Amino acid sequence: MKITIIGAGPGGYEAAIMAAKLGAEVTVIEKSEVGGTCLNFGCIPTKALLASKDVLTTSLEAEKFGVFNDHTTTDLKQIIERKDKIVSGLVKGIEFLFESNGINLVRGIGKLIDSKTVEVQRIDGRVETLVSDKILLATGSVPICPEMFHYDGKKVITSIEALALKTPPKSMIVVGGGVIGCELGQFFAQMGTKITIVEMADQILSSEDESVAKQLVRQFKREKIKVLTANAITDVKVQDSGVVVTLKKGELLEAELMLLSIGRSSYSKGLNLEELGIKVDTKGQIEVNESLETSVKGIYAVGDLISTPYLAHVASKEGIIAAENMLGNNKTGVHKAIPRCVYTDPQVAAVGLTEKEAQQKGISYKTGSFDFRSLGKAQIIGKIQGQVKIIVNEHDVIIGASIIGPEATDLLTELTMAVHLGLTAEVLGDVIHPHPTLSEAIMEALHDVHGKSINKVLMRL
Ligand code: FAD
Repeated sequence: MKITIIGAGPGGYEAAIMAAKLGAEVTVIEKSEVGGTCLNFGCIPTKALLASKDVLTTSLEAEKFGVFNDHTTTDLKQIIERKDKIVSGLVKGIEFLFESNGINLVRGIGKLIDSKTVEVQRIDGRVETLVSDKILLATGSVPICPEMFHYDGKKVITSIEALALKTPPKSMIVVGGGVIGCELGQFFAQMGTKITIVEMADQILSSEDESVAKQLVRQFKREKIKVLTANAITDVKVQDSGVVVTLKKGELLEAELMLLSIGRSSYSKGLNLEELGIKVDTKGQIEVNESLETSVKGIYAVGDLISTPYLAHVASKEGIIAAENMLGNNKTGVHKAIPRCVYTDPQVAAVGLTEKEAQQKGISYKTGSFDFRSLGKAQIIGKIQGQVKIIVNEHDVIIGASIIGPEATDLLTELTMAVHLGLTAEVLGDVIHPHPTLSEAIMEALHDVHGKSINKVLMRL
C-alpha cells in the first residue's frame, strides 16, 4: 500500500510513522520544517519560553524558600536561543524517526491532481508526480489576520514573529484573550513589557469556566497586565512610533507592538480541493466522516484542517486513526474527551463540559471542588493559588472538570481518562492518591461531590 501525506505537522508526521509501522510505503511532502506549527511556531517554542519565565518566577521567589539569589535578570536573546536549540533538536528527532521508519520525505509544496495523484513543486525547482493508493491531507492552519489590523510582521505581529523577538518591546497590545494571547501576554509581561489584552467576549479564555478566568485575571492584575473584556478594536493606525488603536468604547490605546491572537484558520491554499470536489464547510474546514475520510474516497484529512479543536494532541490522534483506516483497520475519529490546556501561571486545564455548558444543555449536575491552598504539597512548593472543580451528572458520571493551579496540565490526564471511560466520582475517588502530591486535590474534589472531602475548609458564617 502506497500512501502520500501532505504536511508534516503532528497530524501528518504521526500518521506517517503509524502507516509505516503498519507496513505502508509512505511519502511525506513538507514545504517547511517537519513538526509543523506545533514544533516550530506553537506548542514547543511557547512552552520553552514559558519555562524560562517559570525559572524567573522561582528565582524571584527564592527568598521565601530561604534561598538567596541576589541578582536575577533576563536576556530574551538567550531565552530565544535556548528555545531555537530545543526546536532544532526535536526537528532532527522527527527526521531521524522518518529515516528509521523508511519514510520518504520530499521537501516542496504538494497539490492534488486526482484522488490518487499528488504533484510536488520541490524546493529545488523540480516538479514531481507521486501516485499512491491513499492520500492524507494534513496542511494545518495559519493565524487569522483581518485586513483592518494591518498585519506587517513588524509592528503588527502574530505568534510567529513574537517567538523570534530578541528584545522585549516596551509595550504590546494583545488582541484576543485566548490561549495564545494569555500565554504570550504573560510571558512578555514577565520580560518587562507593558501588556494590554483586549478581548471581545465577556471573559478571557471564553470557553472555560468563569471562575477559572476570573482567577487568572486576578493573577494578571498582580503582574500589572491590563485586561479589557467585552471590548473590541474598531480602528488601527500603524505609525513609526508604534500602533494606535481605537476601542469600541472610545478609548485610545498606544503600544510599540500589537500581537494578533484572534484565532487560526484551516490552510488548504493551492491543494485543489474544489477541482477534486472535496467538500469544505463555511469556515473552510474540510468535511470528513467518522473514519476521517473526505467526500472523495481514498483522500483523508486530519488536524487543524478539519473542524475538531485546533490542538496538537487532537491532530496526532487523528493522524494515527487516519493511518489505521487507510490501512484497512476500522477506527473511529470521534473523540470522547479532549483535554484543553493553558500554560500560564497558574496553569489552566479542562476537559468535558464546563458548569455553564451543563446548564445550557439542561443537564442535572452536581459539582465538587477543592482549593490547592488546603493541600500540603501546594504549601510545600509555594503554589497555593487555584482549585480543582469536578462536574458529575445525575448518575455520578464525571462529565467535566476544570483545574487552575500548579501542574494543572499534567494533573488533567486522570480526569480526561475519567471522562473518556465514563467513570463515576465514587469509583475514581476510591483510588488511593499518593501523599503528599498535587493529585490529592483531585481526590478531595471527587469526595466533595458527595460532601465527603476530609480536608476541605468549609466557610461557616
Ligand atoms: P500543522 O502543525 O500546522 O502542520 C501543517 C504542516 O503542513 C506545516 O508544516 C506546513 O508547512 C505544511 N504544509 C501546508 N501546506 C502544504 C503544502 N501544500 N505542501 C506541503 N506542506 C504543506 N496545541 C496544543 O495541543 N498545545 C499547545 O500548547 C499549543 N500551543 C500552541 C501555541 C501557538 C503559538 C500556536 C500557533 C499553536 C499552538 N497549538 C497548541 C496548536 C497546534 O500547534 C496545532 O493544533 C497543530 O500544530 C496542528 O497540527 P497539524 O498537523 O494539523 O498542522
